Amino acid sequence: VAARLPMVPQGGRTGLAGGAVPLVPGSVVISLTRMDGLREIDAVGRTATVDAGCTVEQLDAAAGAQGLTFPFRIGSGGSAQIGGVVSTNAGGIRAWRHGGARQLVIGIEAVLPDGTVWSSLRGVRKASMGPDLGQLLIGAEGTLGIVTGATVELRRQEETGPTAFVAVRTVEDAVALFSALEAGGGLDACELISQAGMSRLAGMPGAPPLPLGMDHPWYVLVEWAGTTTDGAGLLEPAEALIVDGVMAASEQQRNDLWRIREMHGAACRRAGHPRQHDVAVPRSAIAAFMAEATNVARQRAPAWQPVPIAHIGDGNVHFDLVPRDAGSSPAFDCELSASIHDLAHRCGGVFSAEHGIGAARANELHRLMPPGNAQALAAIKQALDPHGLMNPGKVFGSLA
Ligand SMILES: Cc1cc2nc3c(=O)[nH]c(=O)nc-3n(C[C@H](O)[C@H](O)[C@H](O)COP(=O)(O)OP(=O)(O)OC[C@H]3O[C@@H](n4cnc5c(N)ncnc54)[C@H](O)[C@@H]3O)c2cc1C
Repeated sequence: VAARLPMVPQGGRTGLAGGAVPLVPGSVVISLTRMDGLREIDAVGRTATVDAGCTVEQLDAAAGAQGLTFPFRIGSGGSAQIGGVVSTNAGGIRAWRHGGARQLVIGIEAVLPDGTVWSSLRGVRKASMGPDLGQLLIGAEGTLGIVTGATVELRRQEETGPTAFVAVRTVEDAVALFSALEAGGGLDACELISQAGMSRLAGMPGAPPLPLGMDHPWYVLVEWAGTTTDGAGLLEPAEALIVDGVMAASEQQRNDLWRIREMHGAACRRAGHPRQHDVAVPRSAIAAFMAEATNVARQRAPAWQPVPIAHIGDGNVHFDLVPRDAGSSPAFDCELSASIHDLAHRCGGVFSAEHGIGAARANELHRLMPPGNAQALAAIKQALDPHGLMNPGKVFGSLA
């Protein structure tokens, strides 16, 4: 701080917005990797307090030893650290049910830009003691301080329930399927995959079997937890919506079904660098968003194929555009991304759901945020970090 060197906090470096990459020459990268201690698990209060460098999987394993779980699932959990999860306000597959970082983190310890230590680490959910600066650090991507520890919610461990992979005709049907299954209880994950995504997976080395082929327009991966009802019984309320489906009959088959979801990103990257859009819209608007975004993309970027994938429960759509022909690098009109972001906002949602802003989306944040919000955030940044030392160019890049 005294030397006024720019600082870039780094966690597991799995972030998808480039937030951990230094932009300013002479920046000091501060890795939290070796600060990975587990400070306390309170099995009675069902909370854990950990160092920021503890990975999601380390935390979950430690909770598991006490019959508890950290109910947060992302594909990068082996490397992503709690400090990174807090700082990106990450979400993941079960956020619709258990909440994302903002809901699961109940206390934060951080070093502020002037060296002051802020701490709200405590194992209580209720604390009405004025504004909570810790909450501001959630999603700040290292621009307001360095998170050094967190207290998080744990839940009771649940038995994994049945896993199904079904085909549906439309996005509307996929959303209706979610509602019907959720009402039945025990639903834990509900992931929408497109025909285009399945086609990208086909023929990929190491790809899992695609049990329903590639002829259906939409597929949904469904998993339950903590229920003793069998899969057929659980699917019954949505029977009329399902065109075809399989139920995993073994752990191997369950893993294979999940690999379809987990390898989707890699399958898209085979054809070249995808243009990613990480939007969230109200669940009731997913179908309208998907139809309109697909239309816009087809008209304005015919060389790019929409390959969307969505966490249905929280309306988080990863509307990725992938070069139609592998190896080609078609020109991309960035105004198209702006149109997709605008559409998400018109649908009542947001242009950035769970990956964060980083540097690349700072202009979009500035463009789409109400001016009053931008002004208030810039004032907070100025108050806490007057010399702009913390992760310069990220999030506030165009605000400060
Ligand atoms: C295969 C894969 C799947 C993914 N799936 C999901 C998903 O489902 N949902 C989701 O939300 N994300 C997902 N991600 C994105 C990523 O894993 C998350 O954003 C994660 O929270 C980043 O954590 P990290 O420790 O790797 O942080 P990093 O990438 O190291 O850093 C991310 C940002 O946080 C800041 N930061 C990191 N640690 C600290 C700290 N201690 N204090 C202050 N600032 C800090 C960095 O400066 C940077 O701005 C996925 C990524 C991959 C590669």
